[in-house]
Amino acid sequence: MAKYSPYESGQDPLSPNRNLSPITSEIDGHGRMLVGGCLLSELADRYGTPLYVLDEATLRAACCAYRNALDKYYGGESLALYASKANSSLVLSSIIASEGMGLDAVSEGELLTALKGGVPGSKIVLHGNNKSDQELCFAYQNGVTIVIDNQHDIDRLSEMIPQGKRPANLMLRFTPGIECHTHEYIRTGHLDSKFGFDLDQLEKVLLQLRSSSWAKLNGLHAHIGSQIFELEPHRDLAAVMADALKLARELGHPVEDLNVGGGLGVKYVESDDPPSIEEWVKGIAEAVTEACEVRKLVLPRLICEPGRSLVATSGITLYRVGSQKKIPGIRKYLSIDGGMSDNPRPITYESKYTACLVDRPLSSAEEIVTIAGKHCESGDVLLKDLPLPYCRSGEVIGVFGTGAYNSSMSSNYNRIPRPAAVVVNCGQADLVQRRERPEDLLRFDVLPDRFVELG
Ligand SMILES: *Cc1c(COP(=O)(O)O)cnc(C)c1O
Repeated sequence: MAKYSPYESGQDPLSPNRNLSPITSEIDGHGRMLVGGCLLSELADRYGTPLYVLDEATLRAACCAYRNALDKYYGGESLALYASKANSSLVLSSIIASEGMGLDAVSEGELLTALKGGVPGSKIVLHGNNKSDQELCFAYQNGVTIVIDNQHDIDRLSEMIPQGKRPANLMLRFTPGIECHTHEYIRTGHLDSKFGFDLDQLEKVLLQLRSSSWAKLNGLHAHIGSQIFELEPHRDLAAVMADALKLARELGHPVEDLNVGGGLGVKYVESDDPPSIEEWVKGIAEAVTEACEVRKLVLPRLICEPGRSLVATSGITLYRVGSQKKIPGIRKYLSIDGGMSDNPRPITYESKYTACLVDRPLSSAEEIVTIAGKHCESGDVLLKDLPLPYCRSGEVIGVFGTGAYNSSMSSNYNRIPRPAAVVVNCGQADLVQRRERPEDLLRFDVLPDRFVELG
């Protein structure tokens, strides 16, 4: 069987984020596409469409790449945390736990999913700019590290944790004056961000926490953006964080963890060219090491929080093509049986994707089509200007790179049930998320008696 990459640009099996399709993608003797040893069209027949498919080998390869690079390039201890907002489920939590990694959560739901999936509380970090008392309490009780994002967090926790009880493990989040939105990169003294303390508040907060018996400050945190293709912003971040680390230690906090956030980009379309996981980690590890040497600081434990670059490439979404509409001289729409409810990224961020007909990915293109979702929004378009062979209704189309921020951002818009999800590995497919049914969507509707027609 031949290895397969949608545009034949070659695969980088050591860094999944640099590939368009999962690293196990293959073409069989009939020209059909397999992932994780499973025929994609067969999965569509068996589980229905839309279907989220997650390739376990690709996900584990990404975990491995982070772990190996941290070991190779950083002299101190290190830990990669999976930013579970990218895709939160029991099976993902369980895979992350088995890889020895930690996990980031931002809600009680994500915390619960991580704990039930086997990630120990000691390896979980709770983020959020407006954590509820319940979320804080749940995190504290489970030994989860809490990221102090603002004064409100400090006030709530100091009220909540009784005198003499075990102190809460804390990380302090600040805005480093570096912000990166894909191709824009800005450095300023202050940032317009809802997350974290401003740099010039740092000393005051550190002093306040020093006199708080309920608080044990273990780490400092900053996160500068997502889908980043440059290494420079994180190098600059290392210096800013080392200054903060020096200050915290001088003020008497035995801070051991330096958490540089996530943000490494992935290849969604052929023209995307993100650095490899190894290059990204190397850049950060070297910058942190150098920044600490210059300031004569004992090396902290280096923590990073990848989300997208861990899971995006392992995911494919399968849809069936239904109706077709040709507008002469303008465009041809192929409509699929899902759309913005299972993948809100195109309508939200104008995100680009790559796709193919899974039973004949190598057939030559005969026309340019637009893949439209089935929702009542003209903007519900998943891919624009996709070259495809003439396609029959009923054929299965696979959209690549949907492992991150698809399922986790899905909705029931138009009361469309969420897709099922399967994990594939070595020819085996396992259901990991059941398909919702229309009646499931009524579970939480309540019709008060006075609205029920009598008779
Ligand atoms: C979203 C987020 C991440 C993960 O970002 P990716 O771009 O998916 O790697 C990490 N840390 C924090 C605090 C985040 O908000």
